[in-house]
Amino acid sequence: MSQEFNITVLPGDGIGPEVIREAVKILKIVESKKNLKLNLTEAPVGGAGYEASGHPLPEDTLKSAKSADAVLLGAVGGPKWETIDFSLRPERALLGLRSNLGLFANLRPAKIFAPLAAASTLKPDVVEGLDIMVVRELTGGIYFGEPRGVETLADGSRKGINTLVYTESEIERIARVAFDVAGKRDKKVCSVDKANVLECTGLWREVVTQVHKDYKDISLSHMYVDNCAMQLVRNPKQFDVIVTTNMFGDILSDQASMLTGSIGMLPSASLGGDKAAMYEPIHGSAPDIAGKDIANPLATILSVGMMFKYSLNLEAINTVLERVVDDVLADGYRTGDILSKGGKEVGCTAMGDRVAEELEKQL
Ligand code: NAD
Repeated sequence: MSQEFNITVLPGDGIGPEVIREAVKILKIVESKKNLKLNLTEAPVGGAGYEASGHPLPEDTLKSAKSADAVLLGAVGGPKWETIDFSLRPERALLGLRSNLGLFANLRPAKIFAPLAAASTLKPDVVEGLDIMVVRELTGGIYFGEPRGVETLADGSRKGINTLVYTESEIERIARVAFDVAGKRDKKVCSVDKANVLECTGLWREVVTQVHKDYKDISLSHMYVDNCAMQLVRNPKQFDVIVTTNMFGDILSDQASMLTGSIGMLPSASLGGDKAAMYEPIHGSAPDIAGKDIANPLATILSVGMMFKYSLNLEAINTVLERVVDDVLADGYRTGDILSKGGKEVGCTAMGDRVAEELEKQL
């Protein structure tokens, strides 16, 4: 009997629908070659959700995501919705999905495909073979802590407040995700904090060290965030898994991503809930290139690979898909964002077709 999975597909805005179309091609090929049954349910989210129902995360969209085995998201946002009330902005849908699905762990691999080593702003020998996984805490920390806001003081001047809060259980669960992920990789975790200045991250360091006692085969090191930012450009290959807080992870994962050449290459997974996990490229809706069929679909296609690995327990498909992407790049095919001298420039659809054709042969 074929395995059956329910996947909620949320194209979103800007280039979201374009890159999702290519990712769906990949899902269809895997479905037919591997005798799976993938029930894809498409639903509006972000600006598209707002246009359809007056809310960036329509009720039916959330319902579908909650009952799915996995959620595949394109990207949300765009200039059209920049002036509407903050609570209705497309980006609010991301927070709504993460909190409703309980997705507290964001996995962002920064892996360099050999043919793209020259596309990095760093020297090829610094990045060749680079394969880092940033595990970012996603639902706590300073982005959610209370009190928050802007207050007017007695003298009429204003004060801005945000609060960094982590409970022991929030730290413990993200540490466990990082150690588990490292167990399937090079078995090295570097926990990043600012324990010399922030008491909250002093607790972070203590709890991570405690949890590590359950993972004897994994090595653990600690690093201050400012040093980590420096080490990521000095000698990024020293890292295997980096685990860190919401805000530090937000910044460091973007920094790590640029080591690989383009934001258009990087997938992500958000895990932690009881049921669906969510997979999406790390880039946004890129309104500057939307509708031109020039976006790089590979980040979204690689997100599909992560979905097979982490949600559908079909890790071998991810391995093949990564190899296929490497082969297509080695053949010289490039979207504009990763184009270098001698590359064969293709658009979004053509890049998706190249990967699809190659996958069909290799699966
Ligand atoms: P962005 O990631 O959309 O674009 C940054 C730059 O990278 C742009 O020059 C864009 O053309 C380029 N780029 C991005 N993805 C690409 C791809 N696949 N192929 C080729 N080039 C690509 O970030 P931004 O411009 O800061 O934000 C645009 C909108 O996206 C905003 O509304 C923002 O809020 C939203 N956003 C959404 C998400 C998300 O949905 N997860 C993430 C970040 C930003």
